[in-house]
Amino acid sequence: TIVGSGVLYYYAQKDRSPGPQLPHDPTKKTIVVLGSGWGATSLLKGLDTTEYNVIVVSPKNYFLFTPLLPSVAVGTLTPKAILQPTRYVTRHKPRQVSVIEATATNVDPIAKTVTFADTSEIQGQVSSTTIQYDYLVYAVGAEVQTFNIPGVRENACFMKEMEDAEKTQRRFLDCLESAAFPGQSKEEIDRLLHVVVVGGGPTGVELSGEIHDFLEEDLRSWYPELANHIRISLVEALPSVLPSFSKQLIEYTESTFKEAKIDILTKTMVKEVREKSVVLQKPDKSIVEVPCGLVVWAAGNTHRKITRDLMAKLPEHQTNRRGITVDEYLRMAGTDGSIFALGDCTATSYAPTAQVASQQGRYLARVFEQLAKRDNLQARLQLLETAPEAEEAKAEKGSLQKQLAKAEKLRPFHYSHQGSLAYIGSEKAIADLPFFNGNLATGGVATYLFWRSAYISNLFSWRNRVLVLTDWGKVKLFGRDVSR
Ligand code: NAD
Repeated sequence: TIVGSGVLYYYAQKDRSPGPQLPHDPTKKTIVVLGSGWGATSLLKGLDTTEYNVIVVSPKNYFLFTPLLPSVAVGTLTPKAILQPTRYVTRHKPRQVSVIEATATNVDPIAKTVTFADTSEIQGQVSSTTIQYDYLVYAVGAEVQTFNIPGVRENACFMKEMEDAEKTQRRFLDCLESAAFPGQSKEEIDRLLHVVVVGGGPTGVELSGEIHDFLEEDLRSWYPELANHIRISLVEALPSVLPSFSKQLIEYTESTFKEAKIDILTKTMVKEVREKSVVLQKPDKSIVEVPCGLVVWAAGNTHRKITRDLMAKLPEHQTNRRGITVDEYLRMAGTDGSIFALGDCTATSYAPTAQVASQQGRYLARVFEQLAKRDNLQARLQLLETAPEAEEAKAEKGSLQKQLAKAEKLRPFHYSHQGSLAYIGSEKAIADLPFFNGNLATGGVATYLFWRSAYISNLFSWRNRVLVLTDWGKVKLFGRDVSR
């Protein structure tokens, strides 16, 4: 404990006392980073800002650790535990980084400008502006895919941003309190306490598992008269949930859900979300209306309007409907190499996961380091060109040319898959891990402990690790909070 506390104190002090930073330098190139998600944050973590002016533009002034978002929706974690202010990262950089809370509205790849609008609730005199970039890191992520299904936007909760998790929690607790209102009919109680989760991808599965835990570990004692009425249905259009996991783990998840009394409705499609029900198309194509109190929409993502607009400006090169086409160095096709795109807004051969985006961010930080080195070598060589033909200058030129040739050779991005993990409730998790040349598929309580430690070590800061561990401890001691 003493050693642990010492280490923690050391990191906390380091975190709290950033050193002095270099100011903005007009002679250096400017990198504008759009976004503060997995891709952007891991880039910022690794980026040496000595040689660049860096400006981050994002509608949120924080990074959200998305894998633990379903835990917030049931009150296992408090929101702040999985948020990390972007300035926590940038304040430790050698050169000052500007963090601007704003939504980018337009990118002009020819003029090399970005226009963005203030997203703050209290606005000053300037609410929109345009800036110039030398390099643009386009890491804007994706938005919820509704497939234009009627009522989704109006009546369902999403599970993408922090507000979504908070709204889901409030809605669920509201349903519980309405169901507890005296004189409520049995049908109305059953409706209010029916939770429909749409989408059997990892988000939908993890959320269903978390709601089940909330029910078993807390609601049974908080609302004993209602607990038996709570029902969770997971609706998936495909023949099985978690299509990206191995068959063995899909079966394990299905049997765990069966035991947990979570209904999995596969080959079933949500056709409409109404105020008090969902309209389902069953496997035999018949249509049914199912009453429910809460619908959570976890049916996948699509690219944002700004991404569509940017792609439309380069129609010959950007034709992939899934997102931005990049080359093996993450440079956006059709540009002169000044736009790098990464993460969920791109269409690559990799799944749009946090793991891919964060590896791309780390890779890009190394690319920028190399580009700075190249620029410096080129500048030095140019200077020598004008210098008198002294012997030393000749020797230096030769060595610089060799270094330059090396610096000009970029290594392509290579993704190294570390495995997939998902929590499925009942203190069980599943893991598909690359193991030597094969695959190790495991599920159960030990995997759950592995899941916990993997997520804790993946959290970007010691501060967040402490906050998450404290919340887990609080829930073990006192249970989840049911106040709204
Ligand atoms: P997803 O795209 O993986 O899954 C959405 C599911 O919704 C699909 O299976 C789709 O068939 C289904 N669906 C779509 N429309 C439907 C409808 N009208 N009715 C019924 N079902 C419908 O989405 P996700 O779970 O949010 O994941 C997004 C990405 O993030 C994926 O790449 C995923 O692997 C990754 N992710 C990974 C983890 C993890 O590994 N633990 C956790 C969360 C997300």
